[in-house]
Amino acid sequence: QLANERVAYFNGKIVPESQVLIPFRDRGFKYGDAVFDMTRTFGHKIFRLQEHVDRLYKSLAYLKIDPQLSPKEMIRLSEEVLERNLHLIGKNEDYWLGQRISRGVGESFSGTENAGATVIVECSPLPLKHRAPLYRDGIDVIVPSVRRTPPDAMSPRAKTHNYINLVLADLEARAQDAEAWAVLLDQDGNLCEGLGSNVFIVSGDRLLTPRARFVLPGISRQHTIDMAERIGLPFAEADIDLYDAYTADEMFLTSTSLCICPVRSINGRTVGDGAVPGPVTRQLIDAYAKSVDFDFMGQYLSHLS
Ligand code: PMP
Repeated sequence: QLANERVAYFNGKIVPESQVLIPFRDRGFKYGDAVFDMTRTFGHKIFRLQEHVDRLYKSLAYLKIDPQLSPKEMIRLSEEVLERNLHLIGKNEDYWLGQRISRGVGESFSGTENAGATVIVECSPLPLKHRAPLYRDGIDVIVPSVRRTPPDAMSPRAKTHNYINLVLADLEARAQDAEAWAVLLDQDGNLCEGLGSNVFIVSGDRLLTPRARFVLPGISRQHTIDMAERIGLPFAEADIDLYDAYTADEMFLTSTSLCICPVRSINGRTVGDGAVPGPVTRQLIDAYAKSVDFDFMGQYLSHLS
């Protein structure tokens, strides 16, 4: 094991990450035939592991992959992997903590002769320094021409390893602006989801987010909705087209790592009056921080160089 090397769970054992080697015939590599989920820590404490593992098992059920571990065992392994890696990060740093499960090695496309699932539980440091400017300046969103995979082709509600649709969106957005964040439209031209994130707008006194059918049911998305209800903010799932986006008062993205992060512009147009964050976003950031007992925005901003 290399000095300061993290460990991960890999097919039955906890080993140094350099020993997590996947055969090239693994179906996760060949076809993206795999699922994953990912939570984070706040001050080294895990955020909603049960809900992330519940979503993981729904993704597994959607693809009919049997991990040969119960959700309870997956939770225990996740906690153990985190525990064994915590000494490698500073007090002001946190981890992503995730599970990755493929159908395993398969010789032929339709072959079911594979030897069983490949299971990995791993953690990696959150990119706090890299993403800190997003909290100071806001995210610049670009809507690429590539549309989100429609639910009748492959459900965006399952968190699979098939991210090619989002990779293409990211390539297109970053060709325009290296720091931009892609937010895709669905097949009907409504805002859908961003690269690894859900999107919300504030329009008048209402908080809106795209309908559940078209997006990954983000744990942070749901947490934000719960928060809005607690604060008494009118909320709805809705069709949000580019007119709605261009005339919104505020916009923000949610995800495990970002929690809630303000958007500054969309397709080069300033959102609302350009305040980052706007008043409603600020209110939700504060409520979110309070609910997890952790000032995530302060943590990001403290990593500005
Ligand atoms: N949409 C997609 C496509 C994602 O990959 C993610 C991040 N995992 C999200 C939304 C946000 O989900 P969560 O809040 O659970 O991280």
